[in-house]
Amino acid sequence: MYTPDEMRRTISHHGVRLTPQRSAIVEELIHFSGIFSVADLQKRMELRHPDLGRATLFRTIDLFVKLGVLERMHREEGEDGYIVGMAGHHHHLVCRVCGEVRHIDFCPLEPAIDERVRREGYAETVHRFDIEGICSRCQEKRAEKAKRKIKGPKA
Ligand SMILES: [Zn+2]
Ligand SMILES: [Zn+2]
Ligand SMILES: [Zn+2]
Repeated sequence: MYTPDEMRRTISHHGVRLTPQRSAIVEELIHFSGIFSVADLQKRMELRHPDLGRATLFRTIDLFVKLGVLERMHREEGEDGYIVGMAGHHHHLVCRVCGEVRHIDFCPLEPAIDERVRREGYAETVHRFDIEGICSRCQEKRAEKAKRKIKGPKA
């Protein structure tokens, strides 16, 4: 995942000006280790930067997605969310319980797909896939809950 410095570099690298508002949003993004919604980010921004308007926030999110600083994540349930991006081709491991996201920076598909795609005569193809599961922390929590259920509540 991009660090704030890498995000700033990526933004400047694209010739986009790093305005104080954009910089402030970058600073808040480090607090998210998984999928967050626009509302989550808005809540954080309202606390620290009440002057920042909703329209600016939406525009900046769109811009950051275009630059790859943020990535839009589709969720089976609820509205789509966002995660802090990462440079280069990669895939995601997503916890379906808590929304934690890990980047996987190797691609087992690339060689196989490349070969087939060339035969079909395509160029500049992209592919995406995410792996969904339950993270170790959520598994532990689940095991704890199950244990408590067997024992029953303490009287
Ligand atoms: Zn990613
Ligand atoms: Zn989890
Ligand atoms: Zn891939």
